[in-house]
Amino acid sequence: MSGLRKRYRKQAEELASASRRLADLGFATSRGGNLSYRVGEDSVLITPTGFQKKEIRAADILVVRLDGKVEDARQGLEPTSEAPVHLQIMRRRPDVRGIIHAHPPVLTGFALAGIDILSRPIHPELTIELGPVISLDYTEPTSEALVRQFDSVARKGNAFLMKGHGVMICSPVGIQRALELLEMLEMMAFSAWVAMSVGKVSEIPGAEINKMEKIMRARKLPMPGGLDPAMTLRRLYSKR
Ligand SMILES: [Zn+2]
Repeated sequence: MSGLRKRYRKQAEELASASRRLADLGFATSRGGNLSYRVGEDSVLITPTGFQKKEIRAADILVVRLDGKVEDARQGLEPTSEAPVHLQIMRRRPDVRGIIHAHPPVLTGFALAGIDILSRPIHPELTIELGPVISLDYTEPTSEALVRQFDSVARKGNAFLMKGHGVMICSPVGIQRALELLEMLEMMAFSAWVAMSVGKVSEIPGAEINKMEKIMRARKLPMPGGLDPAMTLRRLYSKR
């Protein structure tokens, strides 16, 4: 193993372990799903193309730059074909450190049916920890159009439901946190599905959202979408 991959060995172990856990959860079957982890200003660890997520080891992880150039990789390995989307989000969001794209069954069901309920404040933990889930129109996977789609939306939130496809989630903390948030979001989607099948899902009132924002400020939690210190939680939810 050469220089850069050796230097980031510990973080590559973390990324590979998140990849295997993603598969264990049933969120990425066959060769679907991909993960990235920013480890330096212009250094990103990313999963290779053509692997099942359950088989990925630290030695399979590539180091790429934000412009997509491969800096270090085991011979013959190429980055995931969704690397341009991960890197576009990271370019637009210098605060983001971990990104996961996956097809968790309930969230993907919502994406297939165009269910937008998770863009609304329906649960306090989801609202505080993740914020609104932004719904995106269908765009061909791995296409330039998909990359361009994130130009305008990357700063609107930390989770994106891609119509007819799956989910993209990011965290300013790291890859482990991105996975925790994805797990939480999938369970919330499951609860919302149950709620919709037995009754009506109601939204948390605006005054309560203001209280949540106070909690976030007290806990020094970053506003979803990052970067804009003037952004409020209510404004974030009012933007569709
Ligand atoms: Zn996908």
